[in-house]
Amino acid sequence: FLTDKSAKIFVAGHGGLVGSAIVRKLQSLGLTNLVLRSHSELDLTRQSDVESFFAAEKPQYVILAAAKVGGIHANNTYPADFIAINLQIQTNVIDSSFRHGAKKLLFLGSSCIYPKLAPQPIPENALLTGPLEPTNEWYAVAKISGIKMCQAYRIQYKWDAISGMPTNLYGPNDNFHPENSHVLPALMRRFHEAKVSKAKEVVVWGTGSPLREFLHVDDLADAVVFLMDKYSGLEHLNVGSGKEVAIKELAELVKEVVGFEGELVWDTSKPDGTPRKLMDSSKLLGLGWTPKISLKDGLVDTYKWYVENVVKQ
Ligand code: GDP
Repeated sequence: FLTDKSAKIFVAGHGGLVGSAIVRKLQSLGLTNLVLRSHSELDLTRQSDVESFFAAEKPQYVILAAAKVGGIHANNTYPADFIAINLQIQTNVIDSSFRHGAKKLLFLGSSCIYPKLAPQPIPENALLTGPLEPTNEWYAVAKISGIKMCQAYRIQYKWDAISGMPTNLYGPNDNFHPENSHVLPALMRRFHEAKVSKAKEVVVWGTGSPLREFLHVDDLADAVVFLMDKYSGLEHLNVGSGKEVAIKELAELVKEVVGFEGELVWDTSKPDGTPRKLMDSSKLLGLGWTPKISLKDGLVDTYKWYVENVVKQ
């Protein structure tokens, strides 16, 4: 993958948190023959449009980073969108990539594919061993189908489709929506707005006790390139930092990075979600990949991006 700098690479979802980081990484490595389509240019839920695009472009490599994503509230509120849009996007892109001669495809999922009560840290083989966390099961079922589709195409057609399951991601180009985003950007925005308006309190959801693992999206992009270059296995691989924090600790850390000086108020009428979600990424680490960005450094970088790109817009 890294040796042919002229190969045509389609990064689906290049405008999002994950896709934009992958594009930055590929460009930094001199892989510049990228095929990119914005949502308005190509709607990946439309099967015939996706087929025509692949027939015309015939990319050699495909990185599938397009998805309908959101936090705990969005998943609970829009279950139909989360299952239908994700199934449509991934089915169209995986099948068209295969039919139009792509050499390799990488599908990206999420740690929420695992059962709510999976052993911690969660190994890859915990998949489909128990009931899912109800707040995001619609999204999870779609992502599990994507992994299975890659495996099925590998088995039936000997086609090189692989899957990576990142832990909770954050970084530049994240969604900072007050209700529908994930915890880290939601808190960053809330603390920032509270700092600016000199508010005394900031409301944080749940009890603060759930544990979450976070990975900076630039580390994920590095792992994506590593997998494209070095991994061709049937099994999906976890991609995590191996470090977990309680939501309470995360809130304190974001508060410090933003420079908000008031109090935190916990709204326990809001759901906690799954109690713990730490991935066992030892398989990927065993292949020689390591994450490099600490949570503190990553938060500083993300806050800078937020101020420059969201606040000043
Ligand atoms: P999850 O990892 O799928 O549960 O997704 P989230 O990132 O949405 O939530 C992670 C945890 O952070 C949950 O326990 C939430 O209740 C908690 N949390 C605290 N404040 C917020 C907030 O403002 N937004 C979100 N999305 N979650 C919050």
